[in-house]
Amino acid sequence: SSTARAQIGVTGLAVMGSNIARNLARHGHTVALHNRSIAKTDALIAEHGDEGDFVRTETVEEFVAALQKPRRVLIMVKAGEATDAVIEELAGAMETGDIIIDGGNALYTDTIRREAALRERGLHFVGAGISGGEEGALNGPSIMPGGPKESYEALGPLLESIAAQVDGVPCCTHIGPDGSGHFVKMVHNGIEYADMQLIGEAYNLFRDALGYDADRIAAVFTEWNSGELESYLVEITAEVLRQKDAKTGKPLVDVIVDAAEQKGTGRWTVKSALDLGVPVTGIAEAVFARALSGSRDQRKAAQGLASGALGAKPTDAEQFTEDIRQALYASKIVAYAQGFDQIRAGSDEYGWDLTPGDMATIWRGGCIIRARFLNRIKEAYDTNPALTSLIVEPYFREAIENAIDSWRRVVVTATQLGIPVPAFASSLSYYDGLRAERLPAALTQGQRDFFGAHTYERIDADGKFHTLWSGDH
Ligand code: NAP
Repeated sequence: SSTARAQIGVTGLAVMGSNIARNLARHGHTVALHNRSIAKTDALIAEHGDEGDFVRTETVEEFVAALQKPRRVLIMVKAGEATDAVIEELAGAMETGDIIIDGGNALYTDTIRREAALRERGLHFVGAGISGGEEGALNGPSIMPGGPKESYEALGPLLESIAAQVDGVPCCTHIGPDGSGHFVKMVHNGIEYADMQLIGEAYNLFRDALGYDADRIAAVFTEWNSGELESYLVEITAEVLRQKDAKTGKPLVDVIVDAAEQKGTGRWTVKSALDLGVPVTGIAEAVFARALSGSRDQRKAAQGLASGALGAKPTDAEQFTEDIRQALYASKIVAYAQGFDQIRAGSDEYGWDLTPGDMATIWRGGCIIRARFLNRIKEAYDTNPALTSLIVEPYFREAIENAIDSWRRVVVTATQLGIPVPAFASSLSYYDGLRAERLPAALTQGQRDFFGAHTYERIDADGKFHTLWSGDH
């Protein structure tokens, strides 16, 4: 009908949904608007109605009727039960071939379930990971849509038009079937946790090993942001450190309680990695470090516990600064290598046939982990799509070779000063573990066979072996 003129509809007009709706409208698309409570719809139209062509709707029936076919609806509501409720309501009003897109932070297994259920009903369901926060949603996010390939034909151009662009390439591409888009968004967030933890450890060393104040540390991060560490997170770290508290005049960071919160995507990443058997040690340390910081009772009880004899603080601040930079870069390479391993493992487990290089491409802009360094990862996958691990690829191998002495000095110095560096240290152990010719796992296998007859393999013969151990068992 003549009223069905919108190219896409957005339901859920809190901060993310409103900003994406505005982004779509600013790119010349006619956008139907819907929200459970009408106040948000009206507020958006009152404040930004002049930015483009919006269609105001109140009921779901009106909303669906406002859309051109195949209908495209982007859901931006609270993840979980709210998403199921909205899908159910929409699905009842939509027709075969229509497309429902969930742009919220859904758990990928929920997306797999929803996609299967909607496919049975003749509807296309696209689980799209969207990164970039409020600002990205408005000015160009990184978008990771998973779902039926056919639906991407009707949807891709719309999403690509509002995504961030890097060197003329949109930060949006079809990821793969069903839950794959939300899966890679989850891993993206896990990497984000690791990146933030590593930056936090660097900050901690400047403060506690070198005695720098927030402004001085901000200056270091600003300088780093013009080199190989150039990234959104390093850039905003300097800004956060420079911010002054209006009430006390102190650096704001010094009056913020040091207990980190989390919404769950890091935890999901680690749970999934445990199930897949992928050692994402950097991400796991980051999630646990947030949990430790939030364990206020234990931390209070542990105040004043012995540190033991501490080592001397570094005397060459310039050298130690460079050491920290190198440790950060090497550990960051490890965190990304582990995240990309998890993507490959997830792809194998669910038969998604993902192209890891795609992620490096679409994470170069728009998202929270955007970084110059992702160009290198993209190049690595362009050269060798079947890469075994990022750390063996020539560029990264050489980067770590350049960093390794610094990396070890940082972990040793931090340990001798009693400064916690869980992510720096575990990333280094991961690296040493992978490159070790022989690991203590032979002993583990012996123990397992001893107490549980679990068998072991031999270095000099095929097959499984069990020994009648001479111990008292
Ligand atoms: P939010 O606070 O997560 O959700 C608020 C929206 O959900 C409101 O529009 C609300 O409608 C609607 N809603 C809640 N329960 C509902 C229900 N049972 N039925 C219908 N609608 C319901 O909003 P947000 O921060 O903008 O995030 C939206 C989604 O994007 C979330 O899944 C979030 O995880 C994801 N995300 C957020 C960010 C970010 O930086 N904030 C980044 C990436 C992804 P009412 O107005 O009627 O209450």
